[in-house]
Order: sequence, then structure tokens, then C-alpha cells
Amino acid sequence: MTQPTHFPPAQGAAHDAPASPTAHPASHFIRTIVETDLAAGKFATRRWRGTPGAAAEQATAPLDTARLRTRFPPEPNGYLHFGHAKSICLNFGLAEQYGGRCHLRFDDTNPAKEDQEYVDSIIDAVRWLGFSWEQGDETNLYHASDYFAWMLAFAEHLIVTGNAYVDSQSADEIRAGRGTLTQPGVDSPFRTRSREENLDLFRRMQAGEFADGTHVLRAKIDMASPNINLRDPLIYRIRHATHHRSGDRYCVYPLYTFAHPIEDALENITHSICTLEFEDQRPFYDWLLERLAETTTLADGSNVGGLLQRPLPQQIEFSRLNLTYVVLSKRKLIQLVEEGHVDGWDDPRLPTLVGARRRGYSPEGFRLFAERIGVSKSDSLIDFALLEDCQREVLNESAERRIAVLDPLKLIITNYPEDQSEECSAPNHPQQPELGTRTLPFGRELWIEREDFMEVPVKGYRRLFPGNQARLRYAYVVRCTGCEKDADGNVTAVLCEYLPETKSGTPGADSVKVKGNLHWVSAADGFAAEVRLYDRLFAVPAPGARRVDENAGDAEGLERSFLDDLNPNSRQTITAQLEPALRDAPAEARFQFERHGYFVADRVVSRPGAPVFNRAVTLKDSWSKG
Ligand code: ATP
Ligand code: MG
Repeated sequence: MTQPTHFPPAQGAAHDAPASPTAHPASHFIRTIVETDLAAGKFATRRWRGTPGAAAEQATAPLDTARLRTRFPPEPNGYLHFGHAKSICLNFGLAEQYGGRCHLRFDDTNPAKEDQEYVDSIIDAVRWLGFSWEQGDETNLYHASDYFAWMLAFAEHLIVTGNAYVDSQSADEIRAGRGTLTQPGVDSPFRTRSREENLDLFRRMQAGEFADGTHVLRAKIDMASPNINLRDPLIYRIRHATHHRSGDRYCVYPLYTFAHPIEDALENITHSICTLEFEDQRPFYDWLLERLAETTTLADGSNVGGLLQRPLPQQIEFSRLNLTYVVLSKRKLIQLVEEGHVDGWDDPRLPTLVGARRRGYSPEGFRLFAERIGVSKSDSLIDFALLEDCQREVLNESAERRIAVLDPLKLIITNYPEDQSEECSAPNHPQQPELGTRTLPFGRELWIEREDFMEVPVKGYRRLFPGNQARLRYAYVVRCTGCEKDADGNVTAVLCEYLPETKSGTPGADSVKVKGNLHWVSAADGFAAEVRLYDRLFAVPAPGARRVDENAGDAEGLERSFLDDLNPNSRQTITAQLEPALRDAPAEARFQFERHGYFVADRVVSRPGAPVFNRAVTLKDSWSKG
């Protein structure tokens, strides 16, 4: 496969890109960095033994055939959400476009809160989005906890080279000594410990001699640095905890800011892409990798170092995805699930990828969305409608059409014989004749939408009312003759007569001109099914934020919880009448229900012959103003 290195400019590309979501990738600053690096051959000298390793282990390996390496590094402490989809599309997308590899790495160095359930769901979600970490004989699925031995050795190296020390202050003392944005920190009284003492203490920390919190290992950098992250950051702490993979083997665990750069370097990552809040950590990222890669001459004249292969990975930050009408924080998502505001992690209303999948969103829709929103360093809030538009666009192209009557009312064709029935033909997709046609059985009694009849029509109403004619799509023109009502005056059936010469697809079809065009399902052949109409989970663009008009009022009582903004109508369960072809819809099959929107056969509760449908998205945006 040849790899394109130049792309059309960003303007317009998003809006003209119809067929394939990734057909016209627009450039952005990270693609520019990658292209510049590749053109300069910056990473061409790296060696790769097929698995992660330190410099000595990679030294004799062949040159890395991957032109770049990126990674998606989730912490397995929750389900992936729409924000993660942006990061996945970016990291895997870059590898795909430039002949690289993207690793799936579980950042599981923190022994708390991590669980195999989350690991499995993350694997499923990335696969569902259509990406793979496996290529050739490379698996590239890693667990940061597999690197603990290297991390400990590297920490000891920092001690030996005078770049780390054991601090025995309390957590409060350490915090107080760190200073503030305007005040420098002060040195810990333990900062001048000898190498030997530091090494001895650190080994005893590892051996389990000390209780949690009694000692920590800190990098020795500069307590007066204007960047607080460089004021001797913690790199190891004691935690007597069981890790979900390494069990009780370790009782010291690395801090994320120490572990992450090392994970990247061991995996030969070239571009380590993260969200903006890590920008202030970049100096430490670079400091740490440089201390491990450089050669240091010790007092006894011996040389140590060269632990990591050069060139070292580079950290690049981009702005995270913020979306209106949802919350994208694991803490809030957990609260929604645990307090029962939704039915679980895969509730179709949640902005989790398992939820979206159940909702009927398509992976291609997410990829298209990721292309459209682009990548930048400025914080932005994306309108949820943009994601819905992308989903609509993809579903419009790919979803076969079917008929569903969501609010059924009987239509009786009084001049159609009781024992007669016939077949009508409907295309599966109006723009894709190659998808073929299907048969709609037609008979004397049909279901139509309740809103398609008005006994006393409002001005401009074109559908059925006594005396008016309308077309039953794919079948005949009918003339409404009246209706039947129950004792309370509710309409129970609409009566009409059909015009036999007007059948669709016959020469007489155009002989009678009508303005209304209705969908219908045969009462004898259709079937009733549960349909769930999902809408946005929150009723306002910024859940939990103060409303503009409230700012005028008194300050008391303005404290809002995001839960106060839940949309009370985010789910409506109805019984619809569906055309017979839908009876055997396989789980996860997506359809356009004509005039209604895009629906999917629920993958959890559908049964063979008895599908349950979820509405993914309506045909048009019903939320935008005007
Ligand atoms: P949360 O803040 O919801 O807990 P997180 O950042 O802690 O998310 P991780 O599992 O650490 O979750 O994230 C894995 C990757 O996904 C990280 O590289 C992170 O930068 C990226 N990511 C997380 N949230 C977003 C977002 N909203 N937009 C873009 N990327 C994101
Ligand atoms: Mg995180």
C-alpha cells in the first residue's frame, strides 16, 4: 500500500466528503508534525525486536518497519466514552494513514479500581470502531503493569545518578514544601541523603518493610522551578494493594507521570499524543527520558546510562472533545449508572461507546465525526447535533429502508374484498438499486399513523380526511370516506375506498394526482413490536451549568447538579406495527424507518422472530432553534 503524504487543505474538505468518511482527510497540526518527521527521517534509525524493550534489548534487532508508532492508552477503570473515540480515531488513524502501528496499551499501573470487565469492554469498543492493533506478526496489545521490572530498574538508575531520593516527609509536609504558583518550594530535609542510603531505603520499600505513606521516591530536579511539576515530583509510592494482574508481587507503584513516558519509550512510540492538561507535564516527560537515555560518568569513573533507545518519543497535546447535551467524565458517568438514572453502561442514552453501539450509532459515523471536528489545541465545545448529523449521513447511505407504524390506527378499505391480498414491491434503498426490493403484503385492513388522519383537517393538511385522496406509498391511491369512533368519540378506524387503477409501478399510477403520501403496514401480515424512542439524556446544552437567565436572580439556590438537567423524556417505549420483513432482523441490523428515522434491532433484548428496536436518530434535527 502506498502512503499518501499530502492532503488537501482543511477548508471545505469536511463538508464535501460524502462517500467514505476517511476519503479526504483534512490536514491538522499533528498530521503536519508527522509528515515533517517522516520527511526528515527522524525515526528511521529505531530498532524493534517485535516487542517492547530497553535500549540494550532493541540494539541488535532489525530496523523498525513501522514508520511511526502511536498508542491509545486507556486506564481500565471505566467504559470508553465519545471523547475516547476522538483519541482512538486520531491515534489509530495516523498509524493507518502513514504506514505506522498503533498500540492498545492498558495503563494499569495504579492497583486500585482496575478490572478485567473494563479491559474486555475497551477491547470490544476499539474493535467495534474498526481499528486493530494486530498487524503481521505484531500483536501490540500491552499492559503497562508488565513494565514494572523496567520501571524499578530505571528508578534505581535515577538514584545511582543522583537524580532521585527517598523522601520520608508526610504527604502534608510534601505538599506544603512544594510552594505555590507565586512562591518557590523548599527543599526536603531528606533531599541530601546519600546514594547508598537512598538505594537501601528504596530496596526496603520494595521488600515491604514500610507501611503505606511512610516514604516516597522523588525525582531530584528543582524546588524553585516556575513549573510546579518539576519541583521534585513523586515517582514511586508504597501501596500494599493487590494488582489485578501482578497480584501481590509489588508493594510500590509508580506515579502515572513517571510510568507513562517510560511505557512510551519501551514501546518505541514516536508520537505520544495526549490531551492538553498534560502540557505542563511535558518538561518532566522530556527530563525523565533524557536522564535514562544519556550516559553518566559516576565518581568511580564508570559510565552508566543509555537505557533508552533514541530518538526518544515526543509528547504532543491536543484539546479534548467536549460535547453539548452529554457529560464526558468517568466520574459523572459512573454516578449516572450507579444511581440508576440509566439502565447500565450500555444504556443507549449514555455517551459510552457500548451505549452508542446499542443505540444504533455506526462506527463509520464516529470516524466521520472525528474527521469533521478535526484536531487542534484550542478548547472547543462541539454541538451534539454534529455527531447526530454524521450518524445520519452514514446511516442514510448504508441503512435499508423499512416501514414501521409507530402510532397505529386502523385503515379499512371498504371496497377491497375481505379474502383478498396482494403484493407490493418496495426498494430497499432509493439511491442504491443494487440493494434490491422487498415485498409488502397489502390487504383490506392496514395500519397507518394516527397523525395521518384528521376528521376536521387544519389548513394545509394533505393527508387523510373525509373526501380527500392520498397515496398509500408503493400501493394505491385511496379516498377517505369517514371514520369509526368509540363511545368517547375517539377515532378507532379510518374508512376509505381504493382506486384500483392507481397501483404504484403500473401505467395508471400517475392517473390521479395527490399531495399526501402515507406509509402503512398490512394488519394481517405485519406484527407488533416494542420500539424505544430515545432522545438526548440531558435537556440542556451544558448539564449542571448555570443558566444565563438565572444569573440575574439571587445567588442562593443556583448550585445545580448535572442531574437536575436530565431530560425526563429521554426514553419512550411504544408498541409499533412493523412490516413483516423486519420480523427476522438480526441483532444490530440498522434500518431507516421511512418518515421516522434510523433504528436498530437491539443487541441485548431482541429475540429470534421478536426484535426490539431502538431509535438511533431522527431524520432531521429536532433540537436546533427555529
Ligand atoms: P476521564 O477524564 O473521562 O476519566 P481519562 O482521560 O482519565 O478520561 P483515560 O482512560 O486515561 O481516561 O483515557 C485514555 C485516552 O483517551 C487518553 O489518552 C486521553 O487523553 C484520551 N481521552 C480521554 N478523554 C478524552 C476526550 N474527552 N477527548 C479526547 N481524548 C480523550
Ligand atoms: Mg486518565
